[in-house]
Amino acid sequence: MGQETLQGEDINNFADQSLEIIIRFDNQGKILYGNALAKEELGYGDKLTDISLDVLIPAELSSEDDSFPIDVVEKLKGGTMYRKNGTCFPVRMNVVVEGGRNLLFAINVAKRVETERKLVRMKEEMEETIKVRNEFVANVTHELRTPVNGIRGHVTNLLEAGVSGEVKNTMDIVIRCCENMSAIINNILDFSKLEAGKFVIEQKEFNFYKMVNHAVETNITAINSKGLHIMVNIDKVIPEYLVGDELRLTQILNNLLSNAVKFTSVGYINIEVTRTVQFDDEIELFFVVSDTGIGISPEEKDKLFKSFSQVDASITRKYGGTGLGLAITKQLIELMHGSIHLESEKGKGSSFSFSVRLHMAEDANQEGQSSEQFEFINQNHDMSQFDNLEEIFQFGTAENTKEIAGKLEKLILCMEVEAWDKAEAFAHNIKELVEQGPKEIKKAAFRLEMNVRKANYDKSLEQYNNLKTLFEQNVGGK
Ligand code: ADP
Repeated sequence: MGQETLQGEDINNFADQSLEIIIRFDNQGKILYGNALAKEELGYGDKLTDISLDVLIPAELSSEDDSFPIDVVEKLKGGTMYRKNGTCFPVRMNVVVEGGRNLLFAINVAKRVETERKLVRMKEEMEETIKVRNEFVANVTHELRTPVNGIRGHVTNLLEAGVSGEVKNTMDIVIRCCENMSAIINNILDFSKLEAGKFVIEQKEFNFYKMVNHAVETNITAINSKGLHIMVNIDKVIPEYLVGDELRLTQILNNLLSNAVKFTSVGYINIEVTRTVQFDDEIELFFVVSDTGIGISPEEKDKLFKSFSQVDASITRKYGGTGLGLAITKQLIELMHGSIHLESEKGKGSSFSFSVRLHMAEDANQEGQSSEQFEFINQNHDMSQFDNLEEIFQFGTAENTKEIAGKLEKLILCMEVEAWDKAEAFAHNIKELVEQGPKEIKKAAFRLEMNVRKANYDKSLEQYNNLKTLFEQNVGGK
């Protein structure tokens, strides 16, 4: 079979289809050929072959004498090309000089240059918009915060002046609404600061165990009121004092913990902290916050860490929130040189894990502590105890009895030191634990909770003793 080759006519046809200007010229610069685009774009039509190349690119080809600077043309990579009507455009060029039939390929880059200019303009405009928006967000959030704090302050004063019954309940709700509103305002402000890259991570010494304890305490009332169990396990090799941003670390933990509580109605929430790496004075900690809640499907998972994303609209209606929490959490973790991951199964629960890097405090030879100051942490249990939740809630079983006895002890301690918030949480917990018990015990636990809620020491003590006696009579022998 004979091999096909491109003939002159074919080549011209191809050249006419080209998106590049193609011009052939001789060693004196006289144009011998121009493809369709060259004829049209330069405005000479078929007359293109009447002129010389230096008419098209005069700036680059001006020479002292009248000779055509072929050596200059050969090296041209770009320049300005003029049309017949005097207008011009920037070009990128490639020239091949070969035996008197030289070729010049040129691309009009005016559009690209214009696009690049537009991009720069758009970027500047966007930066300006973000700046204006951030200032606006900062002003509005500040303006919102003032009345919310005002409402909270006044209602707190009224509560302290002494109200009871329905009025107190309503006021408690108002306070909770204010707290939610403050949390939303803070989230919006944080998000806008993070987006503007204005977030600075502090490096200050803090008590790590107290920090975890504080995050748990913030959620303990909600945990107890839902009858959930919380377990906290901190690897004892983690020193008591570390250097980092305590406030932001609490915020991360709090976000994950409050979500875990929000999306779990039965079972437990577990917090595990381990040390993964320690290098010189740097320490990497690995946190796992898991729950037995509603879970998240793989499709929903991808959207979670993006701003304003909630799994679906019904979530907002049922559980509230703005969908900013995890986006903020992820960015804060990244600022602490860590990353966040999620493992979850719909209907079974979720497990959020993250790492952060902190520094060791100067005097860091003390390891984790076991003192009583971590009351909440130490009241919790080994994971294995919760493998069978049914058993724990079953009134009268060994575990149930042990737990009630433990909670009663803590309750009386809290009452003695007038830590009424904590006392209320324990009283509520006890009420939940005797849920399946005899009627009289249930009644006593209910009355105890009521009196503790009113912070009435004498009546609380009376009910405490009453419940304790009933409890010991019922389960004492077991
Ligand atoms: P929000 O501030 O509205 O709670 P987040 O960013 O914290 O927003 O969470 C976004 C969404 O992720 C929630 O609305 C919920 O659908 C889902 N989610 C987060 N944590 C959990 C969890 N522990 N269990 C189930 N769903 C969760």
